[in-house]
Amino acid sequence: VIFALLAALPACDVPLAGTHSGDPEDQLLREESRTEKTNAQGLYTIDVEVEDGDTSFQVTATAPGDHRTSVDSVRDPSGRKILDWQEALQGDHQISGAFIPQRSTTAFNWPIQEKDGPLEPGTWQVTWTVTNQSLFPQPRSRIDLVTAIKRDPDLATAVIRVRILYARGVDDPKIVNAVEDAVEHWRDIWAEEGITLVERYDTTTLDPDLGFYREGSTAAEEASAGKEPGELQLIVGESIDRDTYIYGVSSGIPGTIQISESTYVVLSWLSHAGRDGRFDLDEIKLMGQTMAHECGHYIGLFHPVEGGYYRWDSLRDTPECSTFPTCADVLGRNLMFPFSLCDATGCVNQTQITDDQSGVFHLQVSAL
Ligand SMILES: [Zn+2]
Repeated sequence: VIFALLAALPACDVPLAGTHSGDPEDQLLREESRTEKTNAQGLYTIDVEVEDGDTSFQVTATAPGDHRTSVDSVRDPSGRKILDWQEALQGDHQISGAFIPQRSTTAFNWPIQEKDGPLEPGTWQVTWTVTNQSLFPQPRSRIDLVTAIKRDPDLATAVIRVRILYARGVDDPKIVNAVEDAVEHWRDIWAEEGITLVERYDTTTLDPDLGFYREGSTAAEEASAGKEPGELQLIVGESIDRDTYIYGVSSGIPGTIQISESTYVVLSWLSHAGRDGRFDLDEIKLMGQTMAHECGHYIGLFHPVEGGYYRWDSLRDTPECSTFPTCADVLGRNLMFPFSLCDATGCVNQTQITDDQSGVFHLQVSAL
């Protein structure tokens, strides 16, 4: 999430556009789905079979209705528990949003960062919890799971595909031109890290106020049906639930590459254009940075420091700071800084990506 000027900017979700048969990228990603039921404790453990040469995986879990999914624990092929939800949530260094039961659909990536890898071949086990909205575990409850495994011989360069969807009525040429110019700025930011952005555009009948952004919706799922494997999705609307201080939001840290009710980053064009509804060059640049920032959340990046200055990401090379002035000083130019820093003369360029942040991008299953 990124908020405007000491309000926050919400996170973005970037889907990778699909691959076509005959495309060598097809061999880089393999997927498998299944439907299961939780045990008496409301848990289900899925085996992820990792072969030699596999570099990362994503497991996506979906529970029906208003049930929620989250990761309970993860075991490596030797059976050792390497992640546990209680430990993960108690710490002041964030690892993955998958431990938080927020939505019906939740994605878990592994490895998340370079120091977690390389991915060891064998049977990995990811244990999921299904709860109701009051967070009570749901025994013998349905859970749908999709595993995507990436085999990427070159982790230094990647193509990330994004399907950009316009909400209903967001087709005024002044908006479309500004979005396309912002995408060029976004492309430059990612290119610095060896990532080639390949985008395509579609129109939808989704509500331009993006009121579904928090919970997901069947309309959003229907709109994502045209998505291809590995592709991310960015939905451009007028506002995010009429809050024009929010620039964009990612549906998860990370988000899923599967078709679901929550496969999106949402972006408000009006929050960027400002009260006059017209884009100047600074506003277009800011919108490009929001796209790159929110999609950074979608692939699994946290803010290097959160707004209260007492929670941090778990990367080694993002400085730790605990007050606004020091954080603005050492991290204010980082792509994942939680606020835009603007005054009457313009905004600070927030485009820097550290090596460890770049590593998170390249490990993600959508980076092919
Ligand atoms: Zn953010």
